[in-house]
Amino acid sequence: MQRSHIEVAIALPVFNTYTYGVPEHFYHQVSPGKRVLVPFGRRKVTGYILGRPKDTYHDSIKFIIDILDESPIFPSSMIPFFKWTADYYMHPLGEVIKSALPKGLNIYDTVCLAITEKGKKAIIEKSVTSVETTVLHFLRHGSCSQKKIINKLTITVTDSLINRMARQGLLTKQRAFNSGGRTKPKLERYVSFIDSGTGRHNNDYSEKKLSEPRKKIINLLKSKGDLSVKELKKIIPPSINLVRSMQKAGQVTIYKKKIYRNPFGESIIPDIPPQLTKEQMDVVAFIQNLFGKGYSTCLLKGVTGSGKTEVYLHLTEIVIKKGCSVVILVPEIALITQIEQRFRSRFGDTVALLHSGLSAGELYDQWTRILAGEASIAIGARSAIFAPFKDIGLIVVDEEHDASYKQDGTFCYNARDLAVVRAKHSNGIALLGSATPSVNSYHNTFTGKYFKASLTRRVGKSSLPDITIVDLRKNRDARGAKRFLSPELRFAMKETLERGEQILLFLNQRGFATHPVCAACGESLRCKNCSITLTLHKKTNAYRCHYCGYSRPSVSHCDICGSHDIKLLGFGTEKVEEGVKTFFPDARVSRMDRDTTLRKGSLLRILQGLKKQSIDILIGTQMIAKGHDFPKITLVGIICADLSLNFPDFRACENTYQLISQVSGRAGRGDAPGKVILQTYNPNHFSIVAAQNHDFNSFYDQEIQFRSKLDYPPFTRMIRLQIFGRSKAKTGEHAFKVTNICKKLKTGSPFFKQVQVLGPIEAPVPKIANKYRWHLLLKSPQIKPLHRMVQRLFFDNKSDVRGRDVKVISDIDPFFMM
Ligand code: ADP
Ligand code: ZN
Ligand code: ZN
Repeated sequence: MQRSHIEVAIALPVFNTYTYGVPEHFYHQVSPGKRVLVPFGRRKVTGYILGRPKDTYHDSIKFIIDILDESPIFPSSMIPFFKWTADYYMHPLGEVIKSALPKGLNIYDTVCLAITEKGKKAIIEKSVTSVETTVLHFLRHGSCSQKKIINKLTITVTDSLINRMARQGLLTKQRAFNSGGRTKPKLERYVSFIDSGTGRHNNDYSEKKLSEPRKKIINLLKSKGDLSVKELKKIIPPSINLVRSMQKAGQVTIYKKKIYRNPFGESIIPDIPPQLTKEQMDVVAFIQNLFGKGYSTCLLKGVTGSGKTEVYLHLTEIVIKKGCSVVILVPEIALITQIEQRFRSRFGDTVALLHSGLSAGELYDQWTRILAGEASIAIGARSAIFAPFKDIGLIVVDEEHDASYKQDGTFCYNARDLAVVRAKHSNGIALLGSATPSVNSYHNTFTGKYFKASLTRRVGKSSLPDITIVDLRKNRDARGAKRFLSPELRFAMKETLERGEQILLFLNQRGFATHPVCAACGESLRCKNCSITLTLHKKTNAYRCHYCGYSRPSVSHCDICGSHDIKLLGFGTEKVEEGVKTFFPDARVSRMDRDTTLRKGSLLRILQGLKKQSIDILIGTQMIAKGHDFPKITLVGIICADLSLNFPDFRACENTYQLISQVSGRAGRGDAPGKVILQTYNPNHFSIVAAQNHDFNSFYDQEIQFRSKLDYPPFTRMIRLQIFGRSKAKTGEHAFKVTNICKKLKTGSPFFKQVQVLGPIEAPVPKIANKYRWHLLLKSPQIKPLHRMVQRLFFDNKSDVRGRDVKVISDIDPFFMM
């Protein structure tokens, strides 16, 4: 590559890339994927080398200040993918790259200083100034960051002083990453039997001479193979001392082995791949046949427990044998541990983890392992789609329908969609798996965009659970907890507990009372920052807003009339927990929602309780709905299936169907059959009836008609423009202004003929955290005109769109319509 000029993406909200000159002494270090420090306006900022610039002919070209990396921190093959992502989501390229990289990597100012031999001599010889002596003295205690020196020393330490000292050879400057504690491999002592018959060792012991415990140990090792000292100790307690003397006697050897632990702290034992079922074999063969023929996407529709993960494992093995890498995406961090364990059992060291639950240091380690080629499988949530592999053969998106793949905020990418794009860029396969595929993806199997493969039966004997619908309307007059715990549900719970089996109760609403209302005047208690009712949390004894976090003590009065008589309507998981405890005082009840899992490790403790069966009844929000595999759960109670139905969102029915199917899928995964009690105010709603019958096709057929009639995705593409502002009037005015520009653009060009400009309207939640919210929707059969329109809105009408106290954000393929 021509080294005198480079194209750089800046990690700032700017849409262009920039050309910089390279001073000659940096020539040999230039390569795409490295970070550079560049002057930008009056600032110094980080940028990413993309390659050779398109043009190099400015007079006033600026030069890079520094190259920050020894080797690239992402492969150059990813650059087209980054560019595509930036264009499509209309987000600055440098910011896209920045969000793709692990957090810790964006820290570029940790310069580590260390004293040299020359420096040490200089102190003794007193050949340096007093300021320099102070710095060198400080460094004698060990190397340290430049920042720390500046902070610690009372004298002024300038950059130029440090640079001068470095040039004189008194100290060295090195860019260092403070990883905050690297993750060390865990080692455990293992015992191995030395067979005298192999001739490896010439042991002259006969079995007769051995003491009973020694004989036992040898027999155990003979039959089971190598065992850890820990395991041996459990079976034969005195073995801990015995094995040492046995090693001296040449009967056994003790060695250290790297082990993996599952999140419960148990070591992971390598597994043996099971014989695939006929259905699984067919799916594997079908997808295997697609390898090496360029890009394709396949939707794998497989009921819960049908062995999709086993299919992923088999395909992964095939792909890494070909020398390519594999990315596995799961929707939630809570699910990673489970899938990680299965991949580690089979592939051990080659697995890397990428998710936001890791510390900056851990994440950095995982990232560098991938860059170094030590890992060829990456497992993670959303952000793992940016794993820095050169050559990806397979990207699996598990539970592809899940809304958590969509990132909220300013860079609103959808990792499921990016998986398809990245597969395209690397000529690989995207495999989207789900028991309840998204309407969009399923539709794509009919248009020929995606292939389709199915797993129709659960592995082994277990069948899908029976779902009984309970009409909550006949429960209206019931008092207290009986309102939401119907007689049918209570009876089923009693039976299940008597059999010693476990119960899951699902309600997608946390807190105690979700709708506190003043009994005197009828007003509901609202957040002072948001247009939303507060939720009472009994445990913390406070009303809380779930949108902005605002909270006030529970002994509150009505803001309107001052009355203290507040009725606690609406129920959340906390109220269900209380009700369950009154009906089943002897049962061990636990709750899993965002309130009980805030602290690190608490989620794992609950999951462990389920596994060890120290929990009989678990109540939870959608956190319990996904993926978990606990064979002793035989009853699932859905407290109220309607909450997601009432959302102002065209995906409301789809979400409801998926949620019911997913939660139901937790029941009866073991030998005992599962049962589901589904409580609802809409027993005849098509998505509820279809979920009851495990009939995805009937759900899809009705839903797709609705989408087609009302012109919603997959029949149209959408961009949502959100307008935020602190002033109610200005935000509304600005929303109209933006809408009018769009309408003018539309009439101004035939290219925009098919674009519909809908709105503006106030968002369903019109105020969050004191910001007023409006939105408008752009619809069109193709995405191109929408992109073009928003580009022209943001770039050609910049001054109009950029209001002073208002912000406009574009959301491509929106998911959340609140
Ligand atoms: P899914 O991902 O579709 O929910 P899993 O892959 O988790 O299904 O499989 C469900 C259970 O069946 C797991 O405990 C898994 O180990 C087991 N399993 C999967 N495939 C096989 C097979 N071919 N033979 C035996 N057990 C299997
Ligand atoms: Zn009142
Ligand atoms: Zn609020």
